[in-house]
Amino acid sequence: MRIADGFEMLEISANLMTGPGFVNPSLIWDEEDVVLVDAGLPNQVQEFRDAFVKAGVTFNRLSQIIITHSDTDHIGGLASILLASSQHISILAHNNEKPYIQADLPPIRLKAMEDQVKSLPEDMRKQMQGLVESLKANYTKLRANVDATIEDGEELPFCGGIVVIFTPGHTPGHVSLYHKRSKTLIAGDALNVENGKLVQAPEFTCLNVEQYNKSLKKLTAYDVSTVICYHGGLFKDNPNMRIAQLAESGIVQS
Ligand SMILES: [Zn+2]
Repeated sequence: MRIADGFEMLEISANLMTGPGFVNPSLIWDEEDVVLVDAGLPNQVQEFRDAFVKAGVTFNRLSQIIITHSDTDHIGGLASILLASSQHISILAHNNEKPYIQADLPPIRLKAMEDQVKSLPEDMRKQMQGLVESLKANYTKLRANVDATIEDGEELPFCGGIVVIFTPGHTPGHVSLYHKRSKTLIAGDALNVENGKLVQAPEFTCLNVEQYNKSLKKLTAYDVSTVICYHGGLFKDNPNMRIAQLAESGIVQS
C-alpha cells in the first residue's frame, strides 16, 4: 500500500500463533537509498521481490535494512535477503538487539516462550512447544551481521530523514522510527492495529511492561499523521490523540 511518494507499506504473508495473516515491513526510497524496515520470516525472498516490483523499486537497489527488534518474525528473512542481493546491504539495529540478531546469544524471547508453554492450554501448548524447538534448532542459521548500531534521537540521513525512537519494553532494544517527510510513525511492535483500532502491544509480548509504558509516552512527542504497525498495518484516524490516550493509560499490569 502506498503511504506517500517513496514510501510503501508491504504486506508479507505470515503464519503466526494467531493463524495465517500478514506482517507489514516498510519500504522507503529515494534516488540514493532504498531502506527496508524489518525482514519477515525465513525464506520469503520471492515475496519480497514481488512486493518490490509492485512498489516499482528494483530489489538490487536495497541498501539498508533497519531492524526494529530481534524477534523471528522481524529478522527471520534477513539471511536469505542478504544472500539474494547482488549488492551489500547494511543492517542497522539498536545495540541491545545486536547479539540476538547475530546469534551471539540465543533469542531473547526464548526464555519467556518456554515459561509460557507451561501455562498454556493443552492444544496451544503443543504449538508453542513446536515453536520453541524450531527456534532453538534454527536461530543460528538465521544470523546476520549488524553493520551499524542506532541510538535514541539519532536522525538517519535516508529518504528525507528517519528519526530513531528507542522504545524498549517489548524487547530491550526495540526501536520505532519516524519518517519526517511523511510524518509516519513506524511503530514496529510497540503498537498494534486490531479491528481497525490502534492498541497497545499485548501484555504477554512485553518482556518489561514498566519500560514499555515509558516508551509509549515517548511516542507522544511526534506529530504523526500515519502509524504503521508490523502487526495490523495502517492507522490514520487522528493518531496523535489515540497515541496520547494509550500512553496515558499504559498497560495496567495484571
Ligand atoms: Zn512481531
